[in-house]
Amino acid sequence: MRHTACQTRENRTITVDFRNEATYYQLLGDGKAFIECVLAFLFALGFQLKHKATCGGGGCLTRHSHYVRVRLSGVTIWRLQCTTCRAVFTVLPHFVLRYRQRHPEVARDALVATHGGLSLELCAVLYHISPMALYRLVCAFGHHSLVTVLTRCGLSLPTYFLADEKHSRCLTDKVYLPTIVQGRGLWHLGYTKEASTAAFTQSYQEFQRAALQQEPTYQVRGILTDGFDSTTSSMRTLFPGARLGNCLRHALNKLPKKLVAITSPVRKSLRVFALGQRLRHFADHVTQKAGVANGERVRRWFQEKKAGWYAVLADPQMPVTSTLLDQAHNAIERKLFAMKGFHHPKGSQQAFLRALAHLYNLVPYQRRAQHAGQCGVEVEGGKVPTRDWLLHLQILTSGGFR
Ligand SMILES: [Zn+2]
Repeated sequence: MRHTACQTRENRTITVDFRNEATYYQLLGDGKAFIECVLAFLFALGFQLKHKATCGGGGCLTRHSHYVRVRLSGVTIWRLQCTTCRAVFTVLPHFVLRYRQRHPEVARDALVATHGGLSLELCAVLYHISPMALYRLVCAFGHHSLVTVLTRCGLSLPTYFLADEKHSRCLTDKVYLPTIVQGRGLWHLGYTKEASTAAFTQSYQEFQRAALQQEPTYQVRGILTDGFDSTTSSMRTLFPGARLGNCLRHALNKLPKKLVAITSPVRKSLRVFALGQRLRHFADHVTQKAGVANGERVRRWFQEKKAGWYAVLADPQMPVTSTLLDQAHNAIERKLFAMKGFHHPKGSQQAFLRALAHLYNLVPYQRRAQHAGQCGVEVEGGKVPTRDWLLHLQILTSGGFR
């Protein structure tokens, strides 16, 4: 991808909340107070700076150099340096977006509109920001993994989760978005061009790698899938100790399709109502009602799926249905549908998708929603660093934090 080539040195930018612009300009004249303010901010968040590997981080910070952002009517930006390892941190005040020339307020409106499903083109009409600039703005937030951002909010890695792939299109090609969801939190949103086990494994492995980096002893206890072969095989490869379950609601939805050549009212009247013995009774019942062929078909289907259903029932902590994952997929789908014109084979699809996922996790729900005013992270018990979602997004996706 485009940005990997130009990112030769470590990104140690940090966004700091100076509360208001006037405070920032005042602090520019007083180096000691400036550094104290930055340290107080870091302390309040409980974040640590990303020093060089050899550095314990115990050294002092000094003001190192500064430059002027010409395009933002000349805002002075300071860099701080660690006296021990010489790592240099660029301090962006809260009212400046990294590499962007526009004020966060314009970005905020355009991002909310995008998040709500408005097309990039229409956002451009409403907010005086070109579709391409908006696309790049979204991508800029997508460089950090969902795992990094969610754990920075204090959420623990998911022991039980839902995994499934969203089918989408990049121009005329079919593409797949491997997804991991736990409650209202999107932990992984990948991008593959094939639906093979190898492709899915590679994508889900990115999640696993990021998780193990956070917590080397991380283990998954249970995973719910819809039973698609490539999904279950990739999960079995990556998380061999985890219990694999099948979504019970999917089973109920699929049952009528297994019963062919009978009228649809009869099909709809048949329901999976229990497991084990009841399954066998049910297959007998189908045989009587809908014929031997249908009875056999249903019996075979039960055999294949039974293990997955039992897995769900055997562990009370296992998620039972994949409804929350479907909701996440629908939300992402609305955005992708709205930006069809921006799919191109050489685009930064992965960065774009990841940024959409960050928005999904961090933008608060609207005031009539069940969790009005809270974002997904908060609903799951996580803590966000400020009172402002765009500022969270800026702070949490900063490269300079460990
Ligand atoms: Zn250091």
